[in-house]
Amino acid sequence: MSAGAVDVTYRGVFQKNLAGVITKELVKAARREDKFGGTVARYGDSPERNGIPAKQFAVIASDMASLQVEMTKYEPDNVVVVAVMDDTLAKGIESWAWYGVRPINLNLAPGGTLLVISRQDPAALLKWIPRRPQPWTLAILPGEPSFGGLWVYNDDGTDYRTMGAIARVTDGLVSLESLIAQAAGTRDGGKREQQLREGYEAVQLHQVAAGEGAEDTYVPVQMPDWTQMREGLVVPAVEVGRTNELFMKYTTRTARPLIKFDACVKCQICYTVCPDECFIPTPEGHYDVNYDHCCGCGICAQSCPVSGCIEMVNEAVFDGNEPLHGVYERDPAAYEELRAEKLAKAGGPVPHYGIY
Ligand code: SF4
Ligand code: SF4
Repeated sequence: MSAGAVDVTYRGVFQKNLAGVITKELVKAARREDKFGGTVARYGDSPERNGIPAKQFAVIASDMASLQVEMTKYEPDNVVVVAVMDDTLAKGIESWAWYGVRPINLNLAPGGTLLVISRQDPAALLKWIPRRPQPWTLAILPGEPSFGGLWVYNDDGTDYRTMGAIARVTDGLVSLESLIAQAAGTRDGGKREQQLREGYEAVQLHQVAAGEGAEDTYVPVQMPDWTQMREGLVVPAVEVGRTNELFMKYTTRTARPLIKFDACVKCQICYTVCPDECFIPTPEGHYDVNYDHCCGCGICAQSCPVSGCIEMVNEAVFDGNEPLHGVYERDPAAYEELRAEKLAKAGGPVPHYGIY
């Protein structure tokens, strides 16, 4: 008796349908092999919130009893693949109901595979992904993250390419042949088969040794048991001007604001509009960004009255969350160089609806 699971980690709203198609089609293909399967999402996730990291699982088992055991859990055990739909999620994930940023590979079974859709190389991704005590595999499916809307199915082939890659790395959980047979029954069967084969062939495997990767700084949040909980729903307030240190939402972000301090007219609008109170006033009247709490919504960039003063820049080109005004204070020219370098590496700013 055995069961294995594929965890599809995705961004709420934008990739909810993508995760749904992948998990359901994996299960249907496994049924063709006389296995048992089901899909399950975590009840604490909030996939209807923009960009919030969320998970959907495909559980595949050799028998019904094993499947039923796994389907009752908050997260199934024996996650043999974590498929990551956007490579900026490799920095860690904080779901809606789970405070604390968790490593992207936290629930990966020993010897499992982290599959990331990315244009980056393994070394760049491993700068963010914590080390594990056992060896594991980093699989990269070359491509851009695929984003859609709440009710939108973005038919760009990412789902079937990902499933092809999963067939390659799961070593028998579900075969490429079963996925192709399953796809043959759909309206675009020929196109789907091609996408499945593309993903199977294109995925690049990189063996990661035990202890290789970023430092693991994860400390699980201590949850109170029911006898320690206060009555009612209590959200402790923090002082005005401070942020809640337990609640970090930067893992929702696919782009972050980068400020051209030399162009800032100190109008305070960004400080006023930011929904997460991320702007920190500096003694000279600039506004620095607290990236630990910036959710990447882009409202500041849309609202800033100075064209090009706040640019949203792809999150993948940044490593840490340190505020940047200190760099500007020490050497404005060096800061401008850094800003230009980040923008160049990201291929320019992410478009928004503000002032150009
Ligand atoms: S993108 Fe701008 S407005 Fe949105 S949370 Fe970050 S700093 Fe605040
Ligand atoms: S909105 Fe723009 S110009 Fe105004 S304070 Fe913020 S960064 Fe400066």
